[in-house]
Amino acid sequence: MSLGWIEEDRLKPVYERGNAVVGNVILAHCVLSIWLASIYNTWEVSTAVAIPAAFLFFGMKQWRPFGLETRMAGCLSLMTFCMLHIYQMYGLPEMHFFFFTSLVAMLAYRDHRALYPGVFLIIAQHVLMTLDVTESFASHFWGTREVSPTVLAIHFGIALAATALAASNMLQGRKEYLDTVQLASQFKDQAEELAEAKLKLEADLKQRARLEDLLQEQMAELQTKAASLEFTNYSMIGELERLEDMATTDALTGLPNIASIRQILDHSLLLDAKVSVIMMDIDHFKSHNDEHGHQHGDEVLKSVAQIMKGQLRTDEAIGRYGGEEFIIVLPNCPSDVALRVAERLRQSLEEFEWPVKAVTASFGISTRADDFKVADELIAEADEALYASKRNGRNRVTLGGLNSEAA
Ligand code: GH3
Ligand code: MG
Ligand code: MG
Repeated sequence: MSLGWIEEDRLKPVYERGNAVVGNVILAHCVLSIWLASIYNTWEVSTAVAIPAAFLFFGMKQWRPFGLETRMAGCLSLMTFCMLHIYQMYGLPEMHFFFFTSLVAMLAYRDHRALYPGVFLIIAQHVLMTLDVTESFASHFWGTREVSPTVLAIHFGIALAATALAASNMLQGRKEYLDTVQLASQFKDQAEELAEAKLKLEADLKQRARLEDLLQEQMAELQTKAASLEFTNYSMIGELERLEDMATTDALTGLPNIASIRQILDHSLLLDAKVSVIMMDIDHFKSHNDEHGHQHGDEVLKSVAQIMKGQLRTDEAIGRYGGEEFIIVLPNCPSDVALRVAERLRQSLEEFEWPVKAVTASFGISTRADDFKVADELIAEADEALYASKRNGRNRVTLGGLNSEAA
């Protein structure tokens, strides 16, 4: 039966302990040999046997401490000492311990193979004795007693039974030992795996912490960006409102521009049955520009816008129609009321204390009462009335559609 190299490796501590046990027993045998040699005066044979026997084991142990040869050498050495002691104590009939000593080697090493030399020698010895090769040889070990085959069989039976018991016990012990070693190595492997897993887990946790930090950094960055976007959004809204204002407001006077006042008129026409429109044009405005410059003309336009706006109610709208022309939308307003409003506006301009040059304007009115006039028709009619005012000498109000004059 061959042991696997893994088992051999695992059994090294056992072999080492076995070497120590066997070595100590051999040393004890050496001491016993000296003592017996001094009693029975067998110095020559004792020296010739004990020294090689001791060297056999210790030499082998030195050369191959875990080799099978060392274990067998240990067994041989022990038996040699037993033979020596039997020789030294000539006449001692008991010799079973001669073989049992090889059982010591087997048990010490937990290796049945350490028993083989003993088995071989004991069988050889018994065969020789049975054959009774020479009288002197047999009598040396056996005395003069006759040995019957039955006695020999019982003799072997006892030896075999004892060997079997010792061997089974040894095998059981070795199995348990190997199992323990294997279990320990498994535990070691598992411990290593656990340590590795622990390291990995720690690394993972560190990585996770790093990722969390990164995430928080990115969150903070995102929040900053969101805040900045929100700010941009507000600015955009402001910008949009400004653009919307620009699109609907006349930059010079701050009044609604032509598109915007058209919308107001359309809206009013939808909501109200009666709507009046006043068109107004500054008289001889060109002369203001020509005489005092365009900047002065602009100032006049701004003042005219302010004065007229100041004269109107909040539901009445005024817008710049273009150049020095203005349009006023009067919701829910019949022509007679519109006439009064236009006259009030005309007067306020005429009566205003102009610092450089007096300003007057001409007005034309159109009204939608119970008809279906649309914005363009109303504007055209008011425009026509305005030109009538111009033709008739300026600084006056003309009600459209009636061909009549007022003021
Ligand atoms: P009328 O009494 O017939 O209306 O005579 P007018 O001189 O007022 O009319 P005209 O159409 O001959 O001249 C209008 C002038 O208004 C011409 C133009 O240079 C001037 N004008 C138009 N828009 C502006 C403006 O925004 N600023 C200035 N300063 N002048 C403007
Ligand atoms: Mg004009
Ligand atoms: Mg004019």
